[in-house]
Amino acid sequence: MSLPIVYHPDYVTPLPEGHRFPMPKFKTVYDILLADGVVDSSSVFQPEIAAMALLQSVHSPEYSNAFCNGQLDRSAQRRIGFPWSEGLVKRTRTAVGGTLLTARLALKYGIACNTAGGTHHAFPDFGSGFCIFNDLAVAARILVDEGIVGKILIVDLDVHQGDGSAYIFRDDERVFTFSMHCGENFPFKKQESDLDVALPSGMTDAEYLTSLEAHFPDLLSSVNPDLVLYDAGVDPHKDDQLGKLALSDEGLWQRDEIVLGRCIANGFPIATVIGGGYSKNIEELARRHTITHRVGAELYRRL
Ligand SMILES: [Zn+2]
Repeated sequence: MSLPIVYHPDYVTPLPEGHRFPMPKFKTVYDILLADGVVDSSSVFQPEIAAMALLQSVHSPEYSNAFCNGQLDRSAQRRIGFPWSEGLVKRTRTAVGGTLLTARLALKYGIACNTAGGTHHAFPDFGSGFCIFNDLAVAARILVDEGIVGKILIVDLDVHQGDGSAYIFRDDERVFTFSMHCGENFPFKKQESDLDVALPSGMTDAEYLTSLEAHFPDLLSSVNPDLVLYDAGVDPHKDDQLGKLALSDEGLWQRDEIVLGRCIANGFPIATVIGGGYSKNIEELARRHTITHRVGAELYRRL
């Protein structure tokens, strides 16, 4: 078997023409992984749609019901950034189910990678910045509540701060939140993660990787998690439309080798989500997202 990955055709739903969220990328990531032989079809797992009870382990019944029934008010819907549709509800809930499945697969196989996920700007009672339900938070909360794991480390290297996750787990000792992001980027009102590293705009590979090496290995050994959830957003890339950092493909590759490599070498199970990445060129963007899966596949082969 190759690296376990998680995908569902419902990860994609149509958006209005010209919408700046690159919705088709999820399917393109999946297609590239199979076409390039990074994974074979026998290691593709399909998630179930997340039940309301799962969503409500993190989100308020008022918010989750209103969104799922298309009853959010206009300003709440605008803050999310997507027009409401039945397809959007299905994709959102399926992606949450996908991250939970990825986490369970990581516990079984040592590593597993979703082809969606990383909606870290979602708070318990509102969505924001293309994020509706917080998949990382739901997966973490469900697994610790079930007692399957005692401690989870969320490593969020998307260029934007993981503000929703930081808020959700602010008083929950079972989940440690680490966010390394561009300090001058959205969200402009930051929350307090257990560890925040705010980077200046324009940072390039060498400084970025030095900063990661300065924090991550020590963090991993001090938190000593039973599971790592990794938001591997590629929006720190120099060509990203919404990022303000200046990493190259090689820099992202090395970043993922540090995170995944350290976890695997030290026996920490790790589940990855693709996180943010914004470009009009879907093929190029999707290919960039597959860096994480390529690094993961190589490490999985050596397990
Ligand atoms: Zn982002």
